[in-house]
Amino acid sequence: MPMAAASTDSQPSARQAFFRLPIISVFLSCFMLSLFPSTALASSGVGVEDAESRLKNLYPEILRDEAVARLHQLGGVSDANGYLERTFLSPASVKAGNLIREWMEDAGLRTWIDYLGNVHGRVEGRNASAEALLIGSHLDTVIDAGIFDGPLGIISAIAALKVLNSNGKLQTLRRPIEVIAFSDEEGVRFQSTFLGSAAVAGILPASALHISDKSGVTVEDVLKDNSLDITKENLLQVKYEPRSVWGYVEVHIEQGPVLERIGLPLGVVKGIAGQTRLKVTVRGSQGHAGTVPMSMRQDPMAAAAEVIVLLESLCKHPESFLSYDGHCNSSSVESLSSSLVCTVGEIATWPSASNVIPGQVTFTVDLRAIDDMGREAVIYEFSNQMYQICDRRSVSCTVERKHDANAVLCDSELSKLLKSAAYSAVTRMTGEIQGDVPVLMSGAGHDAMAMSHLTKVGMLFVRCRGGISHSPEEHVLDDDVWASGLAVLSFLEIQL
Ligand SMILES: [Zn+2]
Repeated sequence: MPMAAASTDSQPSARQAFFRLPIISVFLSCFMLSLFPSTALASSGVGVEDAESRLKNLYPEILRDEAVARLHQLGGVSDANGYLERTFLSPASVKAGNLIREWMEDAGLRTWIDYLGNVHGRVEGRNASAEALLIGSHLDTVIDAGIFDGPLGIISAIAALKVLNSNGKLQTLRRPIEVIAFSDEEGVRFQSTFLGSAAVAGILPASALHISDKSGVTVEDVLKDNSLDITKENLLQVKYEPRSVWGYVEVHIEQGPVLERIGLPLGVVKGIAGQTRLKVTVRGSQGHAGTVPMSMRQDPMAAAAEVIVLLESLCKHPESFLSYDGHCNSSSVESLSSSLVCTVGEIATWPSASNVIPGQVTFTVDLRAIDDMGREAVIYEFSNQMYQICDRRSVSCTVERKHDANAVLCDSELSKLLKSAAYSAVTRMTGEIQGDVPVLMSGAGHDAMAMSHLTKVGMLFVRCRGGISHSPEEHVLDDDVWASGLAVLSFLEIQL
């Protein structure tokens, strides 16, 4: 059965599943011991585990109870009254950063805040000069946010390190481990995502310091107001040397419904989708709604509607539209079928009156896929077919590309290790051998995108209720918080 921490109250909890453990066979105990030598149970010699000692080895008080309490505590640190809002270096963000710093120190980490306001907590382990493993996520939020998007990745990493610290194993790690709470991922205040992680990855241009918010305050002003002496030279100091880093791992809520539908708490991320944003403008002949006969109209609204429906069909069934030629090979089409998503989220008409045939309609297209070649092929096919529709309807159509970002593929070695860590976590919690850990694509951007310019990246997704995020309705079950902390712990145990 899937891990017990499922999405409805009627399903058994991990703890209920745990209490079925004594009937587990000798084989399972041996199997689990081989997976988790460092958490071997004293009683395992006879193949039957005592329920209480087993629960102790799942560290519920640190990985679940304390982590959940901290998520709620951090969720209460807001610049707004009655809802959660923490933007780049706002008073609440600074307070949240200080709280995270305290928790890092409580876990035995050495801490500091860099010139971009990122909070770092590090342990050197046995070999301070070895390449470091970085684990991170963001502490900023959108407006009226949920409490898990970002903080879950930070808090589960701190919790896992706290377990190692309390077991006396923190200093025996074979490479430095560093948790980073990034100061800006959502980009709410300056409309520029990844300020924190881009600086660490060394891809934040100095010009970004001059971006201003709605009230004319620049990134540089905000940093200086917070006693962070940002200069061009100091920005370079925030950057990590690629040779000093082994890899970057991020735990994040899924922000989609797939894990909940499958009934599993954790999934491994195959990659982060590439994205293109288009602006389509359709121009026709503006006229009186009562006097222009239907046969004589050049209506951009009806044309836009047909183009939007075309886009939906193309993105639902790319295989029916794309030919296997130079533009798109069979693996691209296959990957598009499982990852392509297209959205028209904004539409505007001119003059936008009920008794006027519009003269112009503009709409946006947001198109995402894991395969960059395939995404290009879809844009090419969409444009071709759109022009045919516009010609047939005697309206003019233009397409502008507003934004492009290539896909980021997660590293196969890190993904394999994360997959076995997730498998370990769920198996440890349920006491039952699990099926395969699902592999998902991320349609949303994450700090891992910026960090991929520095080092190899891997990501773990955690189930969230209804796939809802960027909303106070965002929710992760306590037991799934536990599963994510246990997965990070299992992952770190490989580094012992
Ligand atoms: Zn996030």
